[in-house]
Amino acid sequence: MAAEKTQAIVIRTFPLKEFHKIITFYTPDFGKVKAVAHGVKSPKSKLGGSLELLNHGTLIFQYRENRELQNVTDFSLIDGFDAIRSDFTRITYGCYFAELVDSIASEGLASPEIFDLLRTTYQFLAHADDVPLLARGFEIKFLDCAGYGPELSRCVHCGSDVQGAANRFGIVFSIRYGGVLCVDCKNRDGAAFTIAPGSCELLKMLRKSEWERFNQIRASTRNHQELKRVLGSFIEYHTERSLKSLKFIENVL
Ligand SMILES: [Zn+2]
Repeated sequence: MAAEKTQAIVIRTFPLKEFHKIITFYTPDFGKVKAVAHGVKSPKSKLGGSLELLNHGTLIFQYRENRELQNVTDFSLIDGFDAIRSDFTRITYGCYFAELVDSIASEGLASPEIFDLLRTTYQFLAHADDVPLLARGFEIKFLDCAGYGPELSRCVHCGSDVQGAANRFGIVFSIRYGGVLCVDCKNRDGAAFTIAPGSCELLKMLRKSEWERFNQIRASTRNHQELKRVLGSFIEYHTERSLKSLKFIENVL
């Protein structure tokens, strides 16, 4: 058993008996870490307030190989992202990002890129003018980091360039093949659907833009609907379930 120290963001909490909690962290060094915080709900616990969902801090835990649950020794808060907690829409989206990371990221597979993406997204979330657009940006960037990013420029069946003439009629997107199909291959997937060329270009822009640029990007209602459909279907395909927080956003916000 070794004591390990790493930065971490709390992406899930679950009560365990009266005083304990099972916490899922996302860390840059160990990927997803699931650990028990013993006695954390007791009034005497020094960890009490720090292990809340979305908190970023320094985690010390006892690591044992091949154990499903590790043990939390200490967690000292670096950033509680207070600016998003007072805003219902922003905190709800924040919880969705955490659930998305929890649903796709594998335990024990370290990805500093995913950790940085989550941390910078929470920092920027407080200042985003268009929160659903930021969510689409998070989704495409996260899919890229996790190795599931859709192909947006070349036909996923024959490899030809999907630009030019095809643009006038819209871009055909296949969830199953993982990206765009050219005019010749568009019937390969009966479930493929068409999006406006502008929505495809916007998606490419979200993929490569820094958060600082997001407030300058404008999206039409149609762009919003199409990007939500493309990314939402894509995520559901890869997680093989629908995410609770995404349903909540659709029903309540
Ligand atoms: Zn093709």
